[in-house]
Amino acid sequence: DLVKIRRALLSVSDKTGLIELATALDAQGVELLSTGGTAKAIRDAGLAVRDVSEITNFPEMMDGRVKTLHPMVHGGLLALRDNDDHIAAMDAHGIGAIDLLVVNLYPFEETVAKGGDYDDCIENIDIGGPAMIRAAAKNHGFVSVVVDVQDYDGLIDQMKANEGATDLAFRQELAQCAYARTGAYDAAVSTWMAGAIGKAAPRRRAIAGEFVQEMRYGENPHQSASFYSNGSERAGVATATQHQGKALSYNNINDTDAAFELVAEFDPKDGPAVAIIKHANPCGVARGATLAEAYEKAFQCDQTSAFGGIIALNQTLDGATAEQICNIFTEVVIAPEATDEAKAVFAAKKNLRLLTTGGLPDVLAAGQTWRQVSGGYLIQDRDNGFIGMDDLKVVTKKQPSEAELKDMFFAWKVAKHVKSNAIVYVKDGATVGVGAGQMSRVDSTRIAARKAQDMADVLGLPAPLTQGSVVASDAFFPFSDGLLTAAEAGATAIIQPGGSMRDDEVIAAADEAGLAMVFTGMRHFRH
Ligand code: 5GP
Repeated sequence: DLVKIRRALLSVSDKTGLIELATALDAQGVELLSTGGTAKAIRDAGLAVRDVSEITNFPEMMDGRVKTLHPMVHGGLLALRDNDDHIAAMDAHGIGAIDLLVVNLYPFEETVAKGGDYDDCIENIDIGGPAMIRAAAKNHGFVSVVVDVQDYDGLIDQMKANEGATDLAFRQELAQCAYARTGAYDAAVSTWMAGAIGKAAPRRRAIAGEFVQEMRYGENPHQSASFYSNGSERAGVATATQHQGKALSYNNINDTDAAFELVAEFDPKDGPAVAIIKHANPCGVARGATLAEAYEKAFQCDQTSAFGGIIALNQTLDGATAEQICNIFTEVVIAPEATDEAKAVFAAKKNLRLLTTGGLPDVLAAGQTWRQVSGGYLIQDRDNGFIGMDDLKVVTKKQPSEAELKDMFFAWKVAKHVKSNAIVYVKDGATVGVGAGQMSRVDSTRIAARKAQDMADVLGLPAPLTQGSVVASDAFFPFSDGLLTAAEAGATAIIQPGGSMRDDEVIAAADEAGLAMVFTGMRHFRH
């Protein structure tokens, strides 16, 4: 299954490593064919190369839209070398076999990432490149196809080891990579188009991703893992700059994302906010007069869990907050910016990773999320649902106070980022109890209250901070028991979607307990 490479077609947008590769191929006696810019670069390096236009007998035309789309090229890539009919067709039309294809595509993803306008992005959709890649990959029984600069060395090593030939296993691997590349490329185009036209057809959504790095391992050490970017410019963990600390792990990336998306709910114009995350759930979120105060309030919610947490800030990390953060072990801190003073404070903590993003993501922006299930995956619009004052419906006799309303909105925003069933107690702009990921809502309500009691014990408070708090529930209370548990813990007001069959019973219980309750009409499940 060894196939000697006699003729290669090179057509690359990214010319990195091109001359080294062409030189090595030339040294192996491979005839080089190439397109305009690539041919020029090879020729300028003093190597012999034939223009594809000479073989197709057509000039490259229409701004390069049509260069290699020709039977002389595709016949050379697709012909089965052991099929008499195919060989006869090659002879009849003077088609020469092409044994190696080296292509990297027009930089579509980079053009989108750079903020290219509509026409610019369209023009950067490569047509001939993917066509050739797919042809060569289909014919991997005879043809080697390289789509990644990183694979040049491997190709040369393989050829050197096999007297200028490649073996089938090697070509199969290359073909598998090739289809991953063309698949990701078109997915990137589709994803960009969905954004550009403002909608994605529910029946035709694509997942786009460019390999970024291999992780040390996945969620657990026995799972391998890698990180892919979808080329989005969204400020966040994927586009952040890391200033110090070890490489991010799989769990770090997941948790940091959860932390930053949560804290982005809080507009810096309304003041500093801090979120502390463990296992993708918040164990403390708070606003404060200063960032340091916000951190302190967030930390107070659940000091035990905050150890080894991930911290997200909605504004520039300053020295004072950095010092406070250093009091306990923290895995990652992510913020739009960090002052030099803050960076100097962190420099002493070698294991702490500091990420800056240049800004906050727009939580209202459209986008997609997806998750894998056995045999497939689920794609949905990201949860950018938002409620304003006008959407709230007071359903109890008691009206919430201004202060309660403020805390309710705060709690509601946090609850959106807590795994269901989510219950969030908030007082004075800080979470004071979070119940996450329980199978029953009443359990989440109890757990959050019990944790608040634990904190009161740790801090030596006369009563848990849930006294006089408000409570958000990510989905409706199906029975009154959860609501009554919250009331027992000292909650005075509830925010929840409403919509249960037993809303009347739940409202009556709230009235009896003297609570104020509002319905949002919107649910924020998160699993
Ligand atoms: P060059 O720099 O050699 O002029 O162009 C190389 C780029 O052209 C590569 O990225 C390759 O994928 C792309 N390409 C090759 N053939 C065609 C074609 O027929 N149409 C289009 N749109 N792109 C092509």
